[in-house]
Amino acid sequence: MANKNVYSFGGGKADGKAAMKNLLGGKGANLAEMSNLGIPVPAGFTITTEACNSYLAHGGELPSGLWEQVLAALRTMEQETGKRFGDPSNPLLVSCRSGAKFSMPGMMDTVLDIGLNDEVTEGMIKLTGNERFAFDSYRRLIQMFGTVVLGIRDEPFEDVLARHRENRGVESDADLTEDDLRSIVAKFKDIVRRHARIEFPSDAEDQLRMATRAVFDSWNGKRARDYRQAANIPHDLGTAVNVVTMVYGNLGEGSATGVAMSRNATTGENLLEGDYLTNAQGEDVVAGTRPTKPLEELKAEMPAVYEQFEGIARRLEKHYREMQDMEFTVERGELWILQTRTGKRTAQAAVRIAVELAEQGLITREEAVLRVAPEQIEFFLHPQFSAAAKAGHEVIARGLNVSPGAATGVVAFDPDLAARWVEQDGRAVLLVRPETRPDDVHGMLAARGILTSSGGRTSHAALVARQFGKPAVVGASQLDIDVGARSMMVDDLEIKEGDWLSIDGTTGEVFAGELETVVPDIEDEWLSRLMGWADEFRRLGVRANADYPDDAARARKYGAEGIGLCRTEHMFFETERLPTVQRMITTRSPAERREAVDSLLPFQREDFAGLFRAMDGLPVIIRLIDPPLHEFLPSFEELTRELADLQIRITNAGSLDEVEGITAKLSETRSMLDRVGSLREQNPMLGLRGVRLGILIPELTRMQVRAVIEAACEVSREGHEAIPEIMIPLTSHVNELRRQREVLEEEARAVMEEQGVEVAYQFGTMIEVPRAALTARQIAEYAEFLSFGTNDLTQTTFAMSRDDAESGFLVRYIQDGILPNNPFATLDEDGVAKIMSFAVTEARETRPTIETGVCGEHGGDPASIAICDRLGLDYVSCSPYRVPIARLSAAQSALRARGDENPA
Ligand code: ADP
Ligand code: MG
Ligand code: MG
Repeated sequence: MANKNVYSFGGGKADGKAAMKNLLGGKGANLAEMSNLGIPVPAGFTITTEACNSYLAHGGELPSGLWEQVLAALRTMEQETGKRFGDPSNPLLVSCRSGAKFSMPGMMDTVLDIGLNDEVTEGMIKLTGNERFAFDSYRRLIQMFGTVVLGIRDEPFEDVLARHRENRGVESDADLTEDDLRSIVAKFKDIVRRHARIEFPSDAEDQLRMATRAVFDSWNGKRARDYRQAANIPHDLGTAVNVVTMVYGNLGEGSATGVAMSRNATTGENLLEGDYLTNAQGEDVVAGTRPTKPLEELKAEMPAVYEQFEGIARRLEKHYREMQDMEFTVERGELWILQTRTGKRTAQAAVRIAVELAEQGLITREEAVLRVAPEQIEFFLHPQFSAAAKAGHEVIARGLNVSPGAATGVVAFDPDLAARWVEQDGRAVLLVRPETRPDDVHGMLAARGILTSSGGRTSHAALVARQFGKPAVVGASQLDIDVGARSMMVDDLEIKEGDWLSIDGTTGEVFAGELETVVPDIEDEWLSRLMGWADEFRRLGVRANADYPDDAARARKYGAEGIGLCRTEHMFFETERLPTVQRMITTRSPAERREAVDSLLPFQREDFAGLFRAMDGLPVIIRLIDPPLHEFLPSFEELTRELADLQIRITNAGSLDEVEGITAKLSETRSMLDRVGSLREQNPMLGLRGVRLGILIPELTRMQVRAVIEAACEVSREGHEAIPEIMIPLTSHVNELRRQREVLEEEARAVMEEQGVEVAYQFGTMIEVPRAALTARQIAEYAEFLSFGTNDLTQTTFAMSRDDAESGFLVRYIQDGILPNNPFATLDEDGVAKIMSFAVTEARETRPTIETGVCGEHGGDPASIAICDRLGLDYVSCSPYRVPIARLSAAQSALRARGDENPA
């Protein structure tokens, strides 16, 4: 027997259910579920994704037995509706709709009104007494069939419609008369004849079979592939096909069609919202071709329908325990639901909805925490226009604020140009269109932001923008865009392609010119509630990498529980300090070095005091100087050039004075070159750096420790609590640590005695060399804490330079699947993490309470954070901006470890 490839639904029952999304696609599974719930869904059936995959695998041959199952299901629909497919006296019309497992808005193709031909149209007129309706449906079928199934471009059809609108002097297709529509149908058939070289198929079954094949084929269409690529959806899932009894929103003013979200998709507010049109069908609402009405108006226009719809929306939300995005049609006062799915939303809305669903008791707090992707938190930190920038620019237009964030760029009126300007010229681009279509997605993804002159909150532009976190303003009707002329008018202002423009997706404002952006503070009441729950669930601590008090303060505001890494060398690079640092490095006189080091002390002390104040009561890990010294000096090549230059100048010198001056400079440059030359190494990253510096120049690290402890004494006298942790970098042998610690401990004790203050400090080391990890048992004798420097540890474990990795062979390695991902972005679980795990176990043998953590890029990467959680580390440390992301990731990791999963 052939596989069951067709699943019926409708009339309060169904073969399928919501859990069958793999087989029935999202649309089909939810139509079945709604039907089971007794929600009014027009009768229909779903052809499985398995059938699609088999069709695609067999070069476009329908699986055997499939069509017989389709015909049987059609007969069931006929019984359910009392109509007959292809029968002019009482015709059943159907839609043929794509529907993959994951919703891909507008990506796949749908054909409505299948079953119409000349005779059936006449029958329809008799039946409804509405000639306009019958021809309106017929012309829609021919156009959709022509474009989707026969591959004809949209333009010839649109041209015919435009000419008729012009002749009639109307704006919208809805105002065309039955005579217009009748003549349009004839012209459309002619377009089919000329472009596809076939007669428009009049047999209902032929229409359905051809449409089914076209939906299957559309799975491999370019725009579907592009979308899947961008949204990370596998290419082998296939799409289901849904055949659904047509219900008519275009049967006069008592009929309507619309889309709605059970909550506001931009802010998350718990209010039903949507758009609809009376006397319209299907795509009219999302296509943005006619101005839609807000759902609110339906309340006045059709109160009973509105109330029923509101009840269904609430019920669906409760049933799915998630915000729903629904499509509905009203046929002469009767409500039908055509689709429901999880609604796409902005990051802000995602957080608010998760929190409010939990507070309503529909989901648990654990689920709420699992429902927000850590990356979404980044959108809370999306750039915004500074108040000053806004004050200095006039708002030239306003539209709907459908996707928050500020974006500024040069205007591109077409998606290909937008993509080219971004990819080839690295320009910041705003894509500006009358409305967007599925073919525009590549340009939308490339652009910084999206601006349209028509379309509502549920338009294609709004949906795609929200999904990808692109700032967007839609429906800015003051914009008069002339794509052909590559310019637009906003009142009297002309804006040409390539001119700068700025949009604020949070407010819906449009500005001429380029506005400056700033990163906002996160002060969102729902986010803080969600983060509060996350903090209750996580085990792993979160600290920040911060070198300056400002960063530390920001990190603390974002919830950092300490500083996991302060890099002290940044302080040496500051312009007023660099000459002293260079003197310290280049001098051969111990006295001069001493003096140079001493003059750096007050700077360092102030740096540290600032950090301690900002982190009052929280631990601050300060890493002693790490980079190779040549990084502080002019380059060898530069000095060589300078020397040659000076020698030429001396031969051309005019006066003795001049010669003398140049000679002095010459000897200075020569001695610098000598020193730089003597510091030159073949492999500086494997050279004189890290702890090796402290061993060769103990004055330097001694000074740093003095600065740390003096600063701690200073702020504790002010009444703050300083908790310094002094960290020694690049240890590979326990003796290095023992030697340095002796010297530094002595200095620390001396300072505390001088100051008469006790400071609770600790000594520890970075683990960034495999040998250190392998000997952690010995190292732990001298280290009270270990911090894995996973950037270097990855570099030294793989023997791959992290500085060249991203431009060199690593790219190929990832493309070819030799490496599953970039180990500098996501911790290598099998290798690097294994070394870490060994080190932690060994270190705890010596010192059970030893503190362990990670600093480095991995500390802010959700997948790596989960690995660190499993390793049982005490904390991760990441950049201040990623602290909230790390907190959420740590909570999710803890919840998953105990078996919680987000069922949605
Ligand atoms: P998409 O996946 O692009 O949303 P759909 O299959 O949902 O495509 O259909 C496109 C439009 O046509 C939607 O507005 C939908 O509500 C409408 N539609 C689909 N089937 C029917 C039907 N049987 N009767 C009336 N409208 C329909
Ligand atoms: Mg569609
Ligand atoms: Mg739909």
